[in-house]
Amino acid sequence: MALYYNQDMDIDKQSLSPSVMEKIFALAKRRGFIYPGSEIYGGLANTYDFGPLGVELKNNIKKLWWKRFVHDRSEVYGLDGGIIVNPKIWKASGHVESFVDPLVECKVCHHRFRADQLKDSKVCPNCSGELTEPKMFNGMFKTFVGATEDEGSLTYLRPETAQNIFVNFSNIGPSCSRILSSVILATLPDNVSVRAS
Ligand SMILES: [Zn+2]
Repeated sequence: MALYYNQDMDIDKQSLSPSVMEKIFALAKRRGFIYPGSEIYGGLANTYDFGPLGVELKNNIKKLWWKRFVHDRSEVYGLDGGIIVNPKIWKASGHVESFVDPLVECKVCHHRFRADQLKDSKVCPNCSGELTEPKMFNGMFKTFVGATEDEGSLTYLRPETAQNIFVNFSNIGPSCSRILSSVILATLPDNVSVRAS
């Protein structure tokens, strides 16, 4: 999970002015759909909490999605994989080695950017301040399992759900008779499923 500014999400590029986005956020907040995460402590970048209507909307969409793509299809099986898995999986998949981006930080406003996505890697697009030299940064969300924070206990919150399918395929096979071979179907934040072919 990356906590840096993503230019793909730049609201100007999406043809919505900041004032329009502010109005949309204000309306969604007022109606109880979505709130900025940790707001009374100044917020936390890229985190949001679903309000009373928002959580109902989210759950309804998840239920509809699950019905359409899992229950209504005879060849699809559901799987709800763990958020944390053995870090050897992310080494084997190439995520530890390959999912790194060159990151720069503004010395003035401290926003972070991917250097390879900037037109000018020396100037901050937010405030025109000076940027630091690029540092390689792994975009996965690090955490530690257990009481010590050393290399042996380091792991990551899953950057994708597909690996749960791969590592559980031999578990699912014997309990679901229609599985002959695997094809990846799907993603919702907490769920993955396997489709037989
Ligand atoms: Zn700046």
